[in-house]
Amino acid sequence: MVNYRYLGNSGLKISEITYGNWLTHGSQVENDVATACVRAALDAGITTFDTADVYANTVAEQVLGDALKGERRESLEIFTKVYWPTGPKGPNDTGLSRKHILESINGSLTRLGTDYVDLYQAHRYDVETPLEETMQAFADVVRQGKALYIGVSEWTADQIRAGAALAKELGFQLISSQPQYSMLWRVIEDEVVPASKEVGVSQIVWSPMAQGVLSGKYLPGQAAPAGSRATDQKGGAQTISRFMSDETLTAVQNLKPVADELGLSMAQLAVAWVLQNDNVAAALVGASRPEQVAENVKASGVTIPDELLKQIDEALDGVVERDPAKTLEGMPKKRLA
Ligand code: NDP
Repeated sequence: MVNYRYLGNSGLKISEITYGNWLTHGSQVENDVATACVRAALDAGITTFDTADVYANTVAEQVLGDALKGERRESLEIFTKVYWPTGPKGPNDTGLSRKHILESINGSLTRLGTDYVDLYQAHRYDVETPLEETMQAFADVVRQGKALYIGVSEWTADQIRAGAALAKELGFQLISSQPQYSMLWRVIEDEVVPASKEVGVSQIVWSPMAQGVLSGKYLPGQAAPAGSRATDQKGGAQTISRFMSDETLTAVQNLKPVADELGLSMAQLAVAWVLQNDNVAAALVGASRPEQVAENVKASGVTIPDELLKQIDEALDGVVERDPAKTLEGMPKKRLA
């Protein structure tokens, strides 16, 4: 089964392998497959589920809510997010204004079929709304009982520090940061992780498998396997393209002996690797088939010895991104509508 970790300095425990439905539910996969993936996650001991209002323009929340119907609410941790434009994408259907936060949470709860989410996350930093307004709105969402805790996603170290300080002042807890993190994308290590440790925030990391690339199934110079994300014209092919160079795919193949030595698949090695970082509370994995979930959960509880960690670094030499400034890369400079 899957081990649990505390989320930030809170008393909330989450499954260290968490299931997320970006690009899949309401988009790449049909609803029956989505439900089968959620069922496989529950069967494997995953109790924590992550979505966002923007995924498939709100449909992903609905699909997840339907798939979880009938489950005991207290035995689940359900996370969603607010920031990106949704619905008709009008001027107030986006960002972290008081208006958008207080309205968005209601839509998310309805679609998810629940009275509260365990974690409500700012999906990006909103440069156009005062942080005080945003944090006050989150404080009110918590006081209304609509979210138990608050988190952020892809915020810089300074933004996390400022947000945590305001949350404390307003009497609620900022407990998590949701950044991209994998063997190939380590930009949080130098700044975001130390700042988060200082203020009691932990990481829930997305794309731990670099969207499937670290599973080793994409081979340099060869066509991507049928049905894989790299062939998904609804968005997947574009988002995975960063990791699809021959240089990266060749380096990734060097990880096979390390996985073999540990008796793991390459996908399991990728998930286990992010969990070696003690500021990481969960690896947030996606799946297009239930068998992938069953395979990936076996990364829980694995320890990778130091000499193999070193071997991983050597295998990937030259293709790892470490620049902390990359956190700002996905950060809109102005609010989108
Ligand atoms: P992963 O890196 O885990 O990639 C998952 C994809 O890899 C699957 O959909 C599948 O794609 C492939 N895969 C999974 N397991 C295997 C396996 N065992 N063997 C081969 N291929 C496999 O994570 P995601 O990129 O899906 O992100 C996970 C979650 O993170 C999201 O659902 C979302 O909740 C969150 N997220 C958050 C963001 C944010 O801004 N906060 C941004 C992006 C994601 P396929 O079969 O189609 O090839």
